[in-house]
Amino acid sequence: MTRMKALGLCRWNLLAVWLLATAPASAQTATPAPGVAHDLARARAQLLSNVRYELSLSLPAAKDQPIDGNMVLRFVLADRTRPLVLDFEPDRPQALRLKVNGVPAASDSVNGHLLLPPVLLRRGENEVEIAFTAGDGPLNRSEDQLFTVFVPAQARKAIPCFDQPDLKARWSIALEHPAQWSSLSNGAELDRVVAGDRARVRFAATKPIPTYLVSFVAGALRVETGVRDGRTLRMFHRETDAAKVQRNRDEIFDLHARSLSFMAKYAGIPYPFDKFDFVLLPTFPFPGMEHVGAIAYNADALMLEDSATQKERLWRARLIGHEVAHSWFGNLVTMRWFDDVWTKEVYASFMASKIADPLFPEVRHDLAFFYDNHERAYPIDRSQGTHPIRQPLQNLADAADLYSDLIYAKAPVVMRQLEALMGERAFRDGLRAYLRKHRYANATWDDLVAALASRARFDVRSWSRVWIDEPGRPRIRTELRVADGRLDALRLTEEDPQGGQRHWPQQLRITLICASTQRTLHADVRVAGIDLTRASDGCVPDAVLAGGQGWAYADFQFDERSSRYLAENLPALEDPLTRAVAWSGLWESMLAGRVPPQSLLSTLLAVLRKERDEQVASQLLSDLGTLWWRFLVPEQRHLAAPELETLLMQRLADAPDAPRKSVWFTALHSLAVSADTVDWLHSVWKRDAAVAGLPLTEADETRLARALVRRDVVESKELLDVQIGRIANPDRKSRMTYLRDVLSPDPREREAWFRELADPAKRKPEDWIIDGLAELHHPLRAEVSAALVQPALEMLLDVRRHGGTFFDSDWMASTLHGHGSPAVAEIVHRYLAGLPQDFPPKLRERLLQSSDLLQRAARARSNSPQ
Ligand SMILES: [Zn+2]
Repeated sequence: MTRMKALGLCRWNLLAVWLLATAPASAQTATPAPGVAHDLARARAQLLSNVRYELSLSLPAAKDQPIDGNMVLRFVLADRTRPLVLDFEPDRPQALRLKVNGVPAASDSVNGHLLLPPVLLRRGENEVEIAFTAGDGPLNRSEDQLFTVFVPAQARKAIPCFDQPDLKARWSIALEHPAQWSSLSNGAELDRVVAGDRARVRFAATKPIPTYLVSFVAGALRVETGVRDGRTLRMFHRETDAAKVQRNRDEIFDLHARSLSFMAKYAGIPYPFDKFDFVLLPTFPFPGMEHVGAIAYNADALMLEDSATQKERLWRARLIGHEVAHSWFGNLVTMRWFDDVWTKEVYASFMASKIADPLFPEVRHDLAFFYDNHERAYPIDRSQGTHPIRQPLQNLADAADLYSDLIYAKAPVVMRQLEALMGERAFRDGLRAYLRKHRYANATWDDLVAALASRARFDVRSWSRVWIDEPGRPRIRTELRVADGRLDALRLTEEDPQGGQRHWPQQLRITLICASTQRTLHADVRVAGIDLTRASDGCVPDAVLAGGQGWAYADFQFDERSSRYLAENLPALEDPLTRAVAWSGLWESMLAGRVPPQSLLSTLLAVLRKERDEQVASQLLSDLGTLWWRFLVPEQRHLAAPELETLLMQRLADAPDAPRKSVWFTALHSLAVSADTVDWLHSVWKRDAAVAGLPLTEADETRLARALVRRDVVESKELLDVQIGRIANPDRKSRMTYLRDVLSPDPREREAWFRELADPAKRKPEDWIIDGLAELHHPLRAEVSAALVQPALEMLLDVRRHGGTFFDSDWMASTLHGHGSPAVAEIVHRYLAGLPQDFPPKLRERLLQSSDLLQRAARARSNSPQ
């Protein structure tokens, strides 16, 4: 039964009873809009206080059996003249039983809300009891597990509640489930009573928390316990490989403990909640989610392979730091409305750097920061789908639209600038004051600006207006003129790429490359142009990097002289961060069409041959993948393949240890197109040959198997079966078994896999679907799959309607990631041009973002000699 039908039926029944039982309600809230509209939320926040939920759920073993629930909801009400609106929009038919202050009542269900009749409500303390069937959508049920994802406003699709971030409440949760399952929730476990094959677990009442942070997880889970700094930490997981758990567990506990103690010290407030658990789930849809006292992670993000690279280890430390930092930023002090969701994200990431960086003294953190933030934000800010960091939001039903790489990546750059402009101490004191003032409550970005502004010696409000409330980035051009070996002019000009008058105050750290030395100049961009001719102090620069030290944020456009010098001499630059910034500028030139892809490939291969820094090498390889598959046509790839593959083989052989070998080996099987190389890779997979110094794990072999199948090696189907047989872990085995059809060498089978997705019920688990779509549209399959781009776009609205938080954007991104042809660019272009007026604007924006590289690649391909 579909969602709409179920609700329609229930509305009719309930409405009949309601008309008999009560007088007509006063007008204003009789038909609340679908979702959670801002005006409804504002009105409710005025009316309600001291909200407490007592939730009991009975979880059956079978995933399609309904979950019976009971909710006792207590609150203080300021005004009882209007119906009180509760949010509840389940995907299951309901036979609700409702009592308001002990009196059985009917309830009208309108647009995903229950209206509580005013005649039964009281001014002051109220108690509402509801027996209901829980909606399945946000509960992510599978055979032997269930986990909630209530962010941003999904709780209402599972249970009745006031689903808005500024109605914080104390939650007492009890779960009844199969006795062999384990479970966790936000509160500490109070008791667990087993009767027959069922267990009933009660969890302690929480401190006041918003609905999006409420969580419970139950299923076949193992538990590891660690004691750190006198606190017991519990890790729930499903990993069956004992050696993998053993290898990771202590470090995972250490990273959490370190994050907790760092944050307590920085914030000047001890860990603000009662207990600390976390759970690793193989199908969790995001890397992590900061549920109070019960953080959820995607298992792969934390349980690393033996061969994990330095980058992956640092990323894990940052992820843990990020989620733990949310205990203060987000969980203790919560945004009033989701338009400020970026504030909690930026501080979590900002703190994560402070926590994780000192653990990796061998890593260049300024370089890591540049890659994690600038290089992640630029792809959005250079696209036509860019948006300001702070975005307006009318309805929480659309809150998922506010999350993007931009808020995770641009905001930290901007905050680092703010900290530098204010001074570290003043900045920290401002944050402390903000956390103290709003603890266990809500606050807005303006509250934070106020806390910072009183400690700053410049105008934080006007700084915030352009960096936080405006989209895009400034363009900074270098003008460098040298005549007869003498510096004639060195000037920087800031422009508004939209042709307006916007000006972005920021600090520049400019690098001058002068013969054998490198110099840094600091300059604040306060006016649109800076003349540095005198400041260069006798140096005649070969190249100028206005974005030197990865500090400032802009579209930096090189002058001719710098551009030429860097293309030829990049590998010779001593400092890895300078190489990274220089490469980033060359890459932007290629994307903008100023440098042809083939000539950038020559530069790239020359750099890769010599690159010594692991982080820089990883980024170069990632850009190489984009250049290789999207910007070059097959003939160009075949011409360049021998040189590239020899280079990768050489780097693989020379790499000093397994993690570094793994980087080059992965690049090799991702990029190889020559028959000889593919044959050798095949024999490695068959275990007839080995990669010296690199023992392959099960995950490595699975990746390799997938790469081989895409290349249509002989007996691909049998290869897949053997690989599935090699996988011991049941979760990974079922994933690979599921993907078999979309990996098939037969295009008809791949298409049949895709056509099945027309049924929303077949689009689960979303994580697998995204993986499958990326496989379907892999560059090696792109030509055949091009015909499926249009149908995938046509399904977008349906995908959005029925899918989880990021499913629609992931759907687009994985559909388009392998394409670069003018024909597919045209399909997307036409689709965008023909969108109806009422098409969700944020979805259009996302499509512009995810198709940006496709459009650029198509332009480059049209211009390149064929
Ligand atoms: Zn976060």
